[in-house]
Amino acid sequence: MKKGQLLGKTLDELKAVAAEVGLPTYAAKQIAEWVYGKRVRSIEEMTNLSLSGRKALAERYTIGCVPPCDMQQSNDGTAKYLFPTESGQKVECVFIPDGDRATLCVSSQAGCRMGCRFCMTGRQGFGGNLSVTDILNQIYSVPGSEQLTNIVFMGQGEPLDNLDAVLQATRLLTAPEGWAWSPKRITVSTVGMRKGVERFLKESDCHLAISLHNPFPEERLQMMPAEKAYSIRELLALLSEQDWSHQRRLSFEYIVFDGLNDSERHARELVRLLSPIECRVNLIRFHQIPDTPYRGASEEKMVWLRDYLTRHGVTTTIRASRGQDIFAACGLLHAKMKE
Ligand code: SF4
Repeated sequence: MKKGQLLGKTLDELKAVAAEVGLPTYAAKQIAEWVYGKRVRSIEEMTNLSLSGRKALAERYTIGCVPPCDMQQSNDGTAKYLFPTESGQKVECVFIPDGDRATLCVSSQAGCRMGCRFCMTGRQGFGGNLSVTDILNQIYSVPGSEQLTNIVFMGQGEPLDNLDAVLQATRLLTAPEGWAWSPKRITVSTVGMRKGVERFLKESDCHLAISLHNPFPEERLQMMPAEKAYSIRELLALLSEQDWSHQRRLSFEYIVFDGLNDSERHARELVRLLSPIECRVNLIRFHQIPDTPYRGASEEKMVWLRDYLTRHGVTTTIRASRGQDIFAACGLLHAKMKE
């Protein structure tokens, strides 16, 4: 019999586990403490459970942590890890240390259905949703996990296309009986699946990032086929109705491509669309991927665009480029492994 996994279970689910293996209901809280608070790696370490209780639990369950099966380390300290999933797929996450901060970019799906033309993962097609355990295992088992200060759902997959699992993972990361993180430390990114965004806004306090990349729908469609089903204009209408002045932050991700989305016309349209919304724009350098006509914009263009948007009232930063030498663009380590 395949054993179940404790990592990823809510308190209510752990109560059911406790009942199943003959432990008292209060043991669920103790198990959550061990798994999420103390981060133990084995059931034997749960010393406040009775010996027979631990034995019964271990017969049916494991913690669910699996170490990475491959990694690449960049000169700048960024490290990319490949993790096996429960269903036998492999997914990447990227550990990005930065002074006293450390961010982990996690995957939510094996492959991706969205097919963005500039993305290696998009080219690989879709291999399935990650389970809550698969998502949390990247955070739990990545070397340097204790140093993490931020988590971004910007790895492989479209997080809102696997929303149940992503919401449960973020709930466990922020619940008092889970990791008890502030939702301000977690950002979930999306191409803009409208229904998913609506639900996310209702059910989560984490930050939201929209992959914009082009303000003109017909041009965006050429880069991101998902524009057809998930219109950015409709999404912006929805987002402009929200109150963003409180805790949650809204940001727009914008990879700047040479000659594609870096003109004054694009800048003007970005200002027109985004200046009425309380948000920020992150300009991202394109990590070159094999066999693509896409090229990153020059450094001068990046700076010009940042200054133009900022001057016109849209808070804009250029995201520091990390891990260039190890292909930090999502999907590449997995693609290399396959080769
Ligand atoms: S950029 Fe993100 S949403 Fe687009 S194909 Fe790649 S993983 Fe999917």
